[in-house]
Amino acid sequence: MNKFRIGFGYDVHQLKEGYDFWLGGIKLEHEKGAVGHSDADVLIHVICDALLGAANLRDIGYHFSDQDPKFKGIDSKILLKEVMVLLRDSGYEVGNLDITICLQLPKVNPHIPAMKSCLAEVMNVSENDISIKATTTEKLGFVGRQEGVSAYCSALIYSV
Ligand SMILES: [Zn+2]
Repeated sequence: MNKFRIGFGYDVHQLKEGYDFWLGGIKLEHEKGAVGHSDADVLIHVICDALLGAANLRDIGYHFSDQDPKFKGIDSKILLKEVMVLLRDSGYEVGNLDITICLQLPKVNPHIPAMKSCLAEVMNVSENDISIKATTTEKLGFVGRQEGVSAYCSALIYSV
């Protein structure tokens, strides 16, 4: 019988002028970008944390330290690929992911199909198993003031 497990991920990155804005594996055109040790792709980071959490494999910072120069500016898609290896080596496969991005600007909705297609390829799962939703925070808080971007992800995995 399959064993099902759930996981959850949460992450925040600061937004600043002069940085690229990677989100969901694609680069958004915007006057600000996300700040971080890696490429600061908050959407990929929450997927990694939700999957690692579901498999009880600690978190993204445990596997890819932000003190390690090896990961400086790294494409988060490489980290996600590595997480998929860890997950599959532990005997699990992805059931589905449900993600919410909190961002005031730019509008995320037009980019969701491209993000889903990119992530499905990186993870080698069906696009139908990746749900991406976006919300503003009605101009409230750090997201509303365009100082940062946050994201949440729930993940279901099952033993194979
Ligand atoms: Zn992050």
